[in-house]
Amino acid sequence: MKILGSGTSQGVPVIGCKCRVCTSVDANDHRLRSSAILQSATTTVLIDSGPDMRYQLLRAGIDDIDAVLITHQHQDHTAGIDDLRAINFIQKHSIPIYCSEAVEMRIREQYSYIFQNSDYPGIPQINFRRIPSNSFLIGDIKVQPLFLWHADLPVICFRVGDCAYITDANNIPKREWKKLQGLENLVINALRKEKHHSHFSLEEALTLADDLSVTNCYFTHISHQMGRHATVQAELKQNRFLAWDGLELPINI
Ligand SMILES: [Zn+2]
Ligand SMILES: [Zn+2]
Ligand SMILES: [Zn+2]
Repeated sequence: MKILGSGTSQGVPVIGCKCRVCTSVDANDHRLRSSAILQSATTTVLIDSGPDMRYQLLRAGIDDIDAVLITHQHQDHTAGIDDLRAINFIQKHSIPIYCSEAVEMRIREQYSYIFQNSDYPGIPQINFRRIPSNSFLIGDIKVQPLFLWHADLPVICFRVGDCAYITDANNIPKREWKKLQGLENLVINALRKEKHHSHFSLEEALTLADDLSVTNCYFTHISHQMGRHATVQAELKQNRFLAWDGLELPINI
């Protein structure tokens, strides 16, 4: 798994902000909107297609995507959908988008031009697939969906092998905990140190990582309010890390 973006909805730096984080020259303080990619020998799966997707794919050298998993309908996770046409031009077929019914409805509303039966060639070609309630295969990648809450909005996150990716959640129902046992690497959202109504805080995410006994935990979807990467990282205990754009984690299937 590669983290393509580790920032919250505005990204870091925030336009116009002169805070210590937004003016930092440390590359780890530059965070595009949250997204990740899963790659096996034969299959590439993108998790979320946010507004920075085009640049993230260019930066990671990715021009082949077998499917996109969408966690939820917020713009910082969907606004790059139009740029999937670049992949269509290469692949010459539509891209499966795995999501919930509610997410599909929202995408159909917000990108209505995609679904209007126009034969204009610059329109992205996507087709919806429903995320099932149990594990499913995309190519040779076995994906375990995790049904979580982002305040009162359902969010679907994913476990692959011994790695789980949890973004935009602040509540993991107990019934999902059994799917999170035996993790070597957990990537989980931690917006900032202060509590937030729809994201885990750093302290909440740290506690969760300990409660789940994960070996390594990486915090993502980070706001400039978190503080500078190097400063906050120095405060964390062993095997607990702020994620950064470009972070690569091995996955043992
Ligand atoms: Zn988000
Ligand atoms: Zn700032
Ligand atoms: Zn969200």
